[in-house]
Amino acid sequence: MRKKIIAANWKMNMTVGETDAFLENFLLEVNDDLGVDVVIVPPFTSLAKAGERLANSSAVKLGAQNMAFQKNGAFTGEISAAMLRDLYVRYVVLGHSERRTLFGETDEIVNKKVKAAHEASLKPILCVGETLAERDANRVEEVLETQLRGSLAGLSSKELLETVIAYEPVWAIGTGRVATPEQAQAAHAFIRKTLAAIADQAVADKVRIQYGGSVKPDNAKTLLGQPDIDGALVGGASLDPRAFAEIVKAGVVTE
Ligand code: PEP
Repeated sequence: MRKKIIAANWKMNMTVGETDAFLENFLLEVNDDLGVDVVIVPPFTSLAKAGERLANSSAVKLGAQNMAFQKNGAFTGEISAAMLRDLYVRYVVLGHSERRTLFGETDEIVNKKVKAAHEASLKPILCVGETLAERDANRVEEVLETQLRGSLAGLSSKELLETVIAYEPVWAIGTGRVATPEQAQAAHAFIRKTLAAIADQAVADKVRIQYGGSVKPDNAKTLLGQPDIDGALVGGASLDPRAFAEIVKAGVVTE
């Protein structure tokens, strides 16, 4: 049985004060014994404050939205894996479609980041997903397979087991247009099949695959009830502590 994992991707939102207020409210709503892994992924500037707030929580962990693959040096504006570890970060979102499209991240770059994350014992949340044009052209499987093979190249089975995959159809991110449970389930089943081809079935059966794209309290339960959907990566709805807590609880009900 795969434990559900629900992550809050705040993107470029939330000051330090807003982070503090959010977590004060959110931690009142969720218990440590929910049986669900929760990851809060604030902007870099709020990691230290969030880490303080989460220090005593065993269910709620800290994640970062990106990192450099280089260890250190002359990379102005970048953040290394060691810097994240220093702030008690456990997860790092890599290859988000906004990074791929707005900041030119290729599968090759994402692969270097995934490897650097594992070297530092950070668990990557690797995002993959097709655009609307690719879906309309019946290229979903081809796009997912290319992204998975490219981004996961050279990983050991142990590293794959410590990797979370987030299936995020680009057309569903921030648009209010959620994938149907059937569309999401079909993509997740294909991702698992591809993981089995990359490693083996035993590894594929254990890797957690999140769905992301306009997840809200009113659609979370149905999505999380699909056999291959093991969690959610939530953008917009994760900015409200009540709404995000409801999504987390939807993960518990379907356990
Ligand atoms: C995301 O940013 O990863 C995301 C899924 O955003 P939203 O939930 O707002 O669609």
